[in-house]
Amino acid sequence: MTNKDLLRVVQEHDSPVYVYNAETITRQYKRLTSAFKKVKQLRLNYAVKALSNISVLQHIHGLGAGLDTVSIQEVRLGLASGCPADRIIFTPNGVSLEEIESVSKMGVQINIDNLSILEQFGTKYPNIPVCIRINPHVMAGGNTNISVGHIDSKFGISIHQVPHILRIVENTNMNINGIHMHTGSDILDIDVFLYASEILFDTAKNFPNLDFIDFGSGFKVPYKTGDIETNIEELGDKLGTRFNAFAKAYGKPLTLTFEPGKFLVSEAGKFLVNVNVVKQTTSTVFAQVDSGFNHLIRPMLYGSRHEIHNISNPNGRERFYSVVGYICETDTFANNRRIAEISEGDILAFSNAGAYCFTMASNYNSRYRPAEVLWKDGEAHLIRKRETFEDLLHNQIPLKELAEVTQ
Ligand SMILES: *Cc1c(COP(=O)(O)O)cnc(C)c1O
Repeated sequence: MTNKDLLRVVQEHDSPVYVYNAETITRQYKRLTSAFKKVKQLRLNYAVKALSNISVLQHIHGLGAGLDTVSIQEVRLGLASGCPADRIIFTPNGVSLEEIESVSKMGVQINIDNLSILEQFGTKYPNIPVCIRINPHVMAGGNTNISVGHIDSKFGISIHQVPHILRIVENTNMNINGIHMHTGSDILDIDVFLYASEILFDTAKNFPNLDFIDFGSGFKVPYKTGDIETNIEELGDKLGTRFNAFAKAYGKPLTLTFEPGKFLVSEAGKFLVNVNVVKQTTSTVFAQVDSGFNHLIRPMLYGSRHEIHNISNPNGRERFYSVVGYICETDTFANNRRIAEISEGDILAFSNAGAYCFTMASNYNSRYRPAEVLWKDGEAHLIRKRETFEDLLHNQIPLKELAEVTQ
């Protein structure tokens, strides 16, 4: 996917537009499976919430992955993408018993993260195998909004409540076939992750019928060359060895499961925008683009840093810019960024735009959500049309008087 390819996508489909490179997703999938090659039964369930376009889902389960979902709608998208129900796991937080029942009836593996639902589900359906989400209270680093393992976190059943879990399991006679943790995004320190894994192994010993142990995700990806990232190869080596030893002692074949989102799709995505205005103020030069936090909220929400390249003038003299959007409130993508000289009409490409970008897009300021393109086998495939004005009106019900005026 060269700059030329990307510029052609804009020519054909206009801007702003998201472009995903299928080959990058494949590369990341293979990197993770190969890091854990010593584990006989490995299963990767892609976290759909990172990027949920059904063509992307189809590509990913085509590689051999399953899907990790957090809502019944994600489950339905997974099924619509052709993924079999028994390759999907449902890991919601705080959803109703009814939603869990509906998903279970579709043949999807259920993962329960609170004692109340565990008891209700176990009482009603003692024969349906269930996975339990444990909170080991280990923080694996990263932004506080995306760290979910700490003591005040709403996620998972506290490790201190294992005795209560066991009582529910005994009383209901339910079948626990998996245990799970997800310590949150941005694992920097492998030893911290291994420490959390030990807690999970200890917990696993209480459940004799496990088929899998799910270590969640949170792998950190680089946002620019030289950035720190999770050393997947080292993790695969160390956790793989430890897992095999545990499975042997456990006395039953176990599957090691992960649910990577960002790791698989973050680097695959580029977000392409057009520069509407170059505005010189007394203190800075603004490049104002035809997008905003309505389309890419991560810089404003998490302070995440996306590299920005001027693909229309890649070899231009570098200057400092503040790249901002067109939303009518503070809407900064990047401050004081060194970028090849920008002219109005240039196309800027944001890197790491695969995960949590399009899926968090909104219609704020009544703008259309962008188009999406999948770059696969050397070709650009439009996989979602840009919205239109009809989409903004869709579902709105005008009051009678207004209906008469607009007819
Ligand atoms: C969001 C989420 C993931 C994916 O996290 P990444 O940091 O994108 O890899 C995995 N598991 C669960 C339960 C999640 O909620």
